[in-house]
Amino acid sequence: MLQAIHQAIDTSFPEMVEIRRYLHQYPELSFQEYKTARYIADFYEKLGIPYQKNIGGNGIVATLKGGKAGKTIALRADFDALPIQDEKDVPYKSKVDGVMHACGHDGHTATLLTLAKVMKEFQEELSGTLVFIHQHAEEYAPGGAKPMIEAGALDQVDAVFGTHLWATTPFGTIQTTKSVLMAGSDRFEINLQGQGGHGAYPHETKDSIVIGAQLITQLQQIVSRRIDPLETAVLSIGIFEAGNAFNVIADKAKLIGTVRYLNRDIQEQVIQEMEKIIKGVTIANNCTYTFKYEKGYPPVINHPNEAQLILDVTKELPEVNTIEEVVPVMGGEDFSYYLLEKPGAFFFTGARKEENPYPHHHPRFDFDERAMPVAAKAMISTCFAFQQQS
Ligand code: MN
Repeated sequence: MLQAIHQAIDTSFPEMVEIRRYLHQYPELSFQEYKTARYIADFYEKLGIPYQKNIGGNGIVATLKGGKAGKTIALRADFDALPIQDEKDVPYKSKVDGVMHACGHDGHTATLLTLAKVMKEFQEELSGTLVFIHQHAEEYAPGGAKPMIEAGALDQVDAVFGTHLWATTPFGTIQTTKSVLMAGSDRFEINLQGQGGHGAYPHETKDSIVIGAQLITQLQQIVSRRIDPLETAVLSIGIFEAGNAFNVIADKAKLIGTVRYLNRDIQEQVIQEMEKIIKGVTIANNCTYTFKYEKGYPPVINHPNEAQLILDVTKELPEVNTIEEVVPVMGGEDFSYYLLEKPGAFFFTGARKEENPYPHHHPRFDFDERAMPVAAKAMISTCFAFQQQS
């Protein structure tokens, strides 16, 4: 049956491309994906696959119950776009000013919809249940995954899988890992309140620029001097705002940045060290502060058994010539939340378009559409392998 499903996926390639290019022309920003959600709902309506909409927001969950008993496996695709002006010169470029599918979520959606349509044909012979999770708002924290799970998207689910079309990896490559695949990513904001005054009389002020500068150098020592060198952490300050005149001591300073990490103990350590440093530096300089630390998506941590299934089944795909167990990337993904709840794994499907090799979130981003059927086959084969294990 798997062979026949793979053939049906190949036959459906033109429709997959058509869906992807339609969605590509009408992208919608995170939490505003109303038309895309309606498009997905209509698709399931026409197919006669039961679905629920407005799950945790604009999310949609469709359920295909096979004719034979078995486990319930969820597959997830996200469907939001980014605030980027599409600069590609292709007939299917975005028709929405300043909004673009620059991360391939249009492709994820086309892949999952087409797979659902194919699997509907095999419903009677199918063991177990397939749950198609169409998730809104991946690009913008707090994201759509968490509220969808809270609304019950994973209830009854035994395992969950997902893929990201990966435009920096060549077509024919599958990448995953049996542990951490993607980093956790947080945001922080520090506001310093010193005391302004005349640039000629610094001793009568509390110079928030000098205090902020000390803070920046001290904070850099968390990664270089306090975290175990064999662990991974990033602390980057992207914004340092203070002052507005050459001869005035700035009374306020604002520092905004990001922390990336691969395990939660390190995240906690970074937060604690930050608090100590901020407190210490501000006490020493007799000024006050506020520190806001926003935890973003946790790291994507694959379950080893389920990741192994992906590594095993993708070997059998004729389009796949390279399977790599990779080191983590420092980007984030809210697929992490599904993996905190259920066994499962996430993988990258190589989709580099050789004549247009721009990375994700680039105004000229595009991907090799032939990667979509590869992603569909990899996902359904993984479901079958999971189903077959005791
Ligand atoms: Mn993405």
